[in-house]
Amino acid sequence: MIFLEETSLVSRPALSYTEVKKRMVARLRHLGIRVRSVIEDEKCLIPMGGPLPRIPQRVMAIGGNSGTVHPSTGYLVARTMALTPILAEAIAECLGSTRMIRGTPLYHKAWNGLWPVERRCTRECYRFGMEFLLKLDLNGTTKFFDAFFGLEPHYWHGYLSSKFFSFSDLGTGPAMQFWKLHGKPPNFKRSNIYVKKVVGLIYPYVNG
Ligand SMILES: Cc1cc2nc3c(=O)[nH]c(=O)nc-3n(C[C@H](O)[C@H](O)[C@H](O)COP(=O)(O)OP(=O)(O)OC[C@H]3O[C@@H](n4cnc5c(N)ncnc54)[C@H](O)[C@@H]3O)c2cc1C
Repeated sequence: MIFLEETSLVSRPALSYTEVKKRMVARLRHLGIRVRSVIEDEKCLIPMGGPLPRIPQRVMAIGGNSGTVHPSTGYLVARTMALTPILAEAIAECLGSTRMIRGTPLYHKAWNGLWPVERRCTRECYRFGMEFLLKLDLNGTTKFFDAFFGLEPHYWHGYLSSKFFSFSDLGTGPAMQFWKLHGKPPNFKRSNIYVKKVVGLIYPYVNG
């Protein structure tokens, strides 16, 4: 028994299931794999990027609905597990304290624990990665991934596992390396997106 997965990493609009299926059939044919029977067929769409939920608000969220999906990889599980204690501590601190912290201060503490300003800025960097991928043609995508995985593992590990956190990381560390990398593939109107990126990074600081 074999689990087969055909994926479109990111596209706008989302790739139709018919197209995904066509690609899977072509891939299987190319690999010389003949399917005898299908036990189960699963379809899935993971919304990537987009705005964060309104912060703070009365309803608390964790997982996909808290904006935690990595905008350029679709990963979520490890990140959510890492954030859960932060959220639990904020809630326990407020509800468990003799000061009985409730209402707005509680929502602020919980949401800002999940999404401090620095993490919102870092998310913008990841979102930039997603927007960048959307602009590449096949040739550009191949060159991009060759260059990306040609970086020292420390950098792409950090990017893929959402480990970049502080603004200094963005300035001097791995995220900056990734940013530099963004300039490599051809036919890309850099100035436009770079300006948007800078605005994207500064805006949450101003409005945080
Ligand atoms: C094929 C595939 C491979 C993936 N691989 C990875 C990977 O390698 N790494 C990674 O990090 N992520 C991966 N993901 C993404 C990750 O699995 C999902 O993003 C994650 O499971 C979402 O978790 P969640 O808790 O936010 O939502 P869900 O897992 O969708 O949980 C939401 C729950 O809420 C329930 N629910 C919905 N509406 C209501 C309602 N009104 N009342 C009560 N309950 C409700 C649902 O039944 C569900 O149980 C993958 C996803 C797919 C489909």
